[in-house]
Amino acid sequence: MNSPKILQYKIIGNYRHYNLCRFCFSNKLTSVINLGYMPLAGGFLKSINVLERYYPLEISFCKNCYLLQSVNVIDKDVLFKDYFYFSSVSKTLTDHFKDLAGELTIRLKTKQKPFVVEVGCNDGTLIKALTSKNIRVVGVDPADNIVQPLIKKKLPIINNYFSEKVAQQIVKNYGKADVLCGFNVFAHIEDMHDVMRGIKTLLKNDGIFVFEVHYLGNLLREIQYDMIYHEHQYYYSLLTLQKFFTRYDMEIFDAQPTPIHAGSMRYYVQMKNQGKNQINSRVSALMIQEKEQLFDKVTPYVKFSKKVAQSKKELLELLSELKRKRKKIVGYGASGRGTIIMNYCGLDETFLDYVIDDSPFKQHAFTPGTHLEIKNASVLQATDRPDFILLFAWSFFNEIKKRNKDYLNLGGKFLVPLPKLKIITDNE
Ligand SMILES: [Zn+2]
Repeated sequence: MNSPKILQYKIIGNYRHYNLCRFCFSNKLTSVINLGYMPLAGGFLKSINVLERYYPLEISFCKNCYLLQSVNVIDKDVLFKDYFYFSSVSKTLTDHFKDLAGELTIRLKTKQKPFVVEVGCNDGTLIKALTSKNIRVVGVDPADNIVQPLIKKKLPIINNYFSEKVAQQIVKNYGKADVLCGFNVFAHIEDMHDVMRGIKTLLKNDGIFVFEVHYLGNLLREIQYDMIYHEHQYYYSLLTLQKFFTRYDMEIFDAQPTPIHAGSMRYYVQMKNQGKNQINSRVSALMIQEKEQLFDKVTPYVKFSKKVAQSKKELLELLSELKRKRKKIVGYGASGRGTIIMNYCGLDETFLDYVIDDSPFKQHAFTPGTHLEIKNASVLQATDRPDFILLFAWSFFNEIKKRNKDYLNLGGKFLVPLPKLKIITDNE
């Protein structure tokens, strides 16, 4: 066996480890998924010579409140101050926020001068849509690089993390809110108790809290282990959320599935006894379904973990066979999800030549951990185009297939890694 020229090692970054559940403070945590040491999912590198840190990625289940949570937490400034994700880049998301603005406008029809606060407003896609409908709105977001340019353009944004203190400041300057909302943010926050105190401070007695978050049912069903990364601290079921809100005298009165972010759920929450909405049948039906699927027991998470390991084995077997046949393989989608698949399965330059991404922000950067160059999709037109594309952005398969029809027509093939490994050969 050849000896490496330099000894290989990983530098482990700072993190906090929890032995107690962050929602109910019980010590009944059982480790169910361990993906090992991982770089930050969004830690794309400008050069491969910069220092890169790794952190353990382990998920535990709380037998007391049923919360699935990461037990190792990285400081929020490392994760969110300089953020890599822009909502407005995706047309699917922009359209989604337009629809949301329409729905909120209908709900607020009877209110005098309605006031909305959005937590995690990112690049202001929803704020702009609501402002155009004459709704007063304030956004809160910690990412300096994203919101500072918007604040300069006079958009009503507070550059901070949402907390009880920030809520008090908003009430003082603008009054209480009719709607508080947050989309794809409430799995990202370490201290959700501070957030809850903020919500109670800020919301009117008959106000509603609307939030959307990735749904645990989709994670388990589609083996979406690539949604597990350090930013995502919680994987929510309705069962655990309803228990958590009860602690704060609040209740979920509606739960609607949406296809956003690999399958999310939109929850509507109100103050118990003061809210005006009946708990609808969707909530009770989902509750029954989750109990039937044993989301309150450890079993489905242990099964999930076994399926994840099996999926890695199958992917590596197929890629090794293709490499033996000297096939050229590249990745598609330099996203957080791609980072997790690549690092968990060990897909470095032995398997993949480079990774394609459509976002101009990432081109010519390198993937976290595996250090593959990120290139524009135009490389698929070149004569040395790849034989196979491993699709990390597998939930956008239809969109990507349409955009790269020529590649398929010329005999190129796609590999879809999840939920079940598939080879797509023709342009049907
Ligand atoms: Zn708990």
